[in-house]
Amino acid sequence: MLIDRAITDILILGSGGAGLFAALHAHRADPDLAVTIATKGLLGKCGCTRMVQGGYNVALHKGDSIERHFMDTIEGGKWLPHQELAWTLVTRAVERVRELENEIGCFFDRNPDGTLHGKAFAGQTFDRTVHKGDLTGIEIINRLMEQVWARPGIARLEEHRAVALIPARDGASLAGVLFADIRSGALRFIAAGAVLLATGGGPTMYRYHTPSGDKSMDGLAVALRLGLPLRDMEMVQFHPTGLLAGPDTRMTGTVLEEGLRGSGGHLLNGVMQRFMGNYDPDLERATRDVVSRAIYSEMRAGRTSPHGGVYIKMGHLGPQRVAKEFKGMVDRCRDCGFDLAGGLVEVVPTAHYLMGGLICNPDTSTELPGLFVAGEDASGMHGANRLGGNGVANSTVFGGIAGDVMPAWLARSGPRRPPDEEVLQAEAARVLHAFGKKPGDLNRLRERLFDVMWEDVGVIRNADGLVRAIAALDEVEAELLATGVAGGERRFNLTWHDWLNMRSLVETSRVIAAAARWRENSRGAHFRADFPAAGNFAESCFSIARRTAGKLAISDAPVVFSHVRPGETLMKESA
Ligand SMILES: Cc1cc2nc3c(=O)[nH]c(=O)nc-3n(C[C@H](O)[C@H](O)[C@H](O)COP(=O)(O)OP(=O)(O)OC[C@H]3O[C@@H](n4cnc5c(N)ncnc54)[C@H](O)[C@@H]3O)c2cc1C
Repeated sequence: MLIDRAITDILILGSGGAGLFAALHAHRADPDLAVTIATKGLLGKCGCTRMVQGGYNVALHKGDSIERHFMDTIEGGKWLPHQELAWTLVTRAVERVRELENEIGCFFDRNPDGTLHGKAFAGQTFDRTVHKGDLTGIEIINRLMEQVWARPGIARLEEHRAVALIPARDGASLAGVLFADIRSGALRFIAAGAVLLATGGGPTMYRYHTPSGDKSMDGLAVALRLGLPLRDMEMVQFHPTGLLAGPDTRMTGTVLEEGLRGSGGHLLNGVMQRFMGNYDPDLERATRDVVSRAIYSEMRAGRTSPHGGVYIKMGHLGPQRVAKEFKGMVDRCRDCGFDLAGGLVEVVPTAHYLMGGLICNPDTSTELPGLFVAGEDASGMHGANRLGGNGVANSTVFGGIAGDVMPAWLARSGPRRPPDEEVLQAEAARVLHAFGKKPGDLNRLRERLFDVMWEDVGVIRNADGLVRAIAALDEVEAELLATGVAGGERRFNLTWHDWLNMRSLVETSRVIAAAARWRENSRGAHFRADFPAAGNFAESCFSIARRTAGKLAISDAPVVFSHVRPGETLMKESA
């Protein structure tokens, strides 16, 4: 099969906060290295970092401390985080925010005394979320993108979809990545000494979801196919307040940010009761998992708004204040016919973030030499629950670390190894599977996937539902494999890419369902109605999913309490 060939030193998959930071740091570490960013979308226009609304958690403020940020992360994550990764996240976030302002050119909102303004985010003991209004991600990605454009040494391949990681012939390391060039339809193998997986996860297999349309769990699907271990895959975070504007608009599911609840917004059910008091003493400021479950329970009880969700109400804070503080949200809601500043807006829990991902070390290296991972594709930092504001901190912190580490790895990794040509050809054939088969109805299959994941692998789960879901996913996969794409045209064939999206989503949905079935307790984002207790935190284990010879197996390992044990606290107030 015809496959184009190219070569680079460092290959970065994805152009979100993780990918762009990695490119800049790698280029800074050694400007003579060939650094290539290959991304499924358009540089600066794709991925979720651009969509960050609320902001960036960092312990900079008087009265706060990195220990406190760390404890919030560990307790929010229900003692499941990998503590060294979480510690790296909270400590390095401080230097990364300084770098964003002083070197990258971002400018965040300030207090009258010139210090950075920290806003309140739910589930945190300190108002430490630094932001640019409620459009923080646009500020970060635009400035990062300008920095990348200003460096001709960083090559860019846009609309290049990574479809397979190709090992070296001797199996000792990664040799490179196979791509489908979305524009030309060509298959292209890029050999690289070091590869960063930064495709941003993206649980878009749920009926309601927030991530950008270019994300379909591709990175984790390719890692899984290579037999690499995924951690915490049962941990899918639902954001409680996705906009619910009806079934016929893509705006449904998009997130209304956490700051709305953090600053005093109320949730009302369909019979106008403020219901959070029935579920948690922290009311609307409870963590995302708690609020999502409360809303879902109201929905199941039939106390719903016209489109089947509940309402968020901000007007009691003063419509002018709301319009000023949440301008982006207010405008977006107005576009969909809702008055956020003074009226009621319908909301529903929406799949927002995947805490699970590829297992990695604090220096972003993985089990496979030459493969690194950062951002939402990585796992362990957040455990059972990601705090709002820790997502973009995670991608920028670890993206930067990957960019520092990969040049050093290249210097000591020895001569480049040739790819396993058999794997390369098999993967190329796999990508083209849908051509030549009888075309079918992908939309119907997607609707089925949405239903299965929302009903049985969603906010509240149980064993029967999970068994049912796994069987249903097998059926969806079988039908997908029998469904073709019309004609042989590969140039800009979005139906083909839709098919490939579905394939990644089905493969990773099965992992989520299997891990959820394995975890017989309820922690953070994962709630089992048949095992509602959290279990003993001191005996916490995390799940490990691995596919070998086509068979998926879930195992586990104990959480290492390297910094703090359940019942203890690290707490230091800064001067
Ligand atoms: C609406 C919304 C609001 C959010 N608000 C906040 C917030 O306020 N604070 C916070 O901390 N976090 C927030 N998050 C989460 C945050 O955006 C993510 O955690 C973080 O930005 C992920 O960064 P990333 O670099 O890993 O991935 P992304 O920024 O998502 O980038 C992924 C990149 O990979 C590319 N890609 C995907 N598949 C492939 C492929 N097969 N081949 C090549 N490239 C590929 C994509 O095109 C994209 O360029 C929010 C998320 C959403 C969706």
